[in-house]
Amino acid sequence: MRYDLIIIGAGPGGLTAGIYAMTRMMRTLIIDAAEVGGQLVSLYPDKAIQNYPGYERIQARKLSDKLYAQAESMGCEFRETEKVIDINDGKEELIVITDKNEYRTSSVIVATGMGMFKPKKMGCRGETEFENKGLCYILPPKEDLIGKKVVVFGGGNSAIEMALIADSVTDTAIVHRRNEFRCDESNTNALGASNIKAVMSAELLSVNGDDRVRSVTLKKGDETFDVAADIVVILIGISSDLDDLKRWGLELTKDGLLMVDDAMRTSRKGIFACGDVIDYEGKYKQIITACGEAATATNSAYKFVKKPYWA
Ligand SMILES: Cc1cc2nc3c(=O)[nH]c(=O)nc-3n(C[C@H](O)[C@H](O)[C@H](O)COP(=O)(O)OP(=O)(O)OC[C@H]3O[C@@H](n4cnc5c(N)ncnc54)[C@H](O)[C@@H]3O)c2cc1C
Repeated sequence: MRYDLIIIGAGPGGLTAGIYAMTRMMRTLIIDAAEVGGQLVSLYPDKAIQNYPGYERIQARKLSDKLYAQAESMGCEFRETEKVIDINDGKEELIVITDKNEYRTSSVIVATGMGMFKPKKMGCRGETEFENKGLCYILPPKEDLIGKKVVVFGGGNSAIEMALIADSVTDTAIVHRRNEFRCDESNTNALGASNIKAVMSAELLSVNGDDRVRSVTLKKGDETFDVAADIVVILIGISSDLDDLKRWGLELTKDGLLMVDDAMRTSRKGIFACGDVIDYEGKYKQIITACGEAATATNSAYKFVKKPYWA
């Protein structure tokens, strides 16, 4: 059996490509190394997204669920927890090799976003010991925070947005190593209007506890002090692993992202791309841009499948 299109990555870009492919009646498979939803589900499921047209506010996980439901109801097939390892040339087809299977297809859209991403670690005492015992790198669901003391570490938009979510249900503090936040003005304003206690210019020395986290030790100037904590959320950035792209023989930018032309064609015939994995001048990494590029990529894939270079 051969697919018309295989989409690698089920974030908003990949899911939108799936929806567009189904409107063109393309036999489509979407493969994701993790679960469906991309960054919306893996990194900020509880965040209220306010810039996706058509919704004044929508929880990230709900937006992802809606895209998933739409693609699935239209007939897209899905494989989760299956990582694409290689894309080989077959005879008038492409062969997508995963860690579990191999699939034949006429075209591919790469929508792998930031690749396999991992949260950055603090490297302080107690970090490894208390991981999953109160210390985490993604804010737990709101219902698990009620009645707990939450301490968030970080100074960017993600850290502030997660602290605001926690503050809506429980006692929350945010600790940043600099003396000012690096974030959107709307977030600074929201922080100022909230009950969040901000501790600036402070360094995390250790996470302390017994069978789970009980406190953190901070250093601010010459002073060292403890802050009670039940949940410690570390949001100091993400390191992404884009090594897959190097294996796939596609032309890359100096930052290791995919080069595409205006039609979202990569340097390999029959392989297109969209979303955070591609780069061009003026690129703005957002859900809406990933979705817009997905529409173009799918249109190009459709034209290619109807009239491939070998026809
Ligand atoms: C904290 C934070 C908050 C944000 N807030 C907003 C916001 O409010 N509004 C907004 O518009 N944007 C926001 N963004 C940006 C937005 O999330 C991204 O631009 C968007 O997710 C990109 O979508 P994508 O489909 O390109 O990739 P992703 O969402 O990264 O999805 C890529 C998928 O590909 C999979 N994958 C990777 N490699 C492989 C492989 N080898 N095989 C199979 N699957 C693979 C991954 O598992 C992942 O599921 C935010 C980002 C962050 C980090």
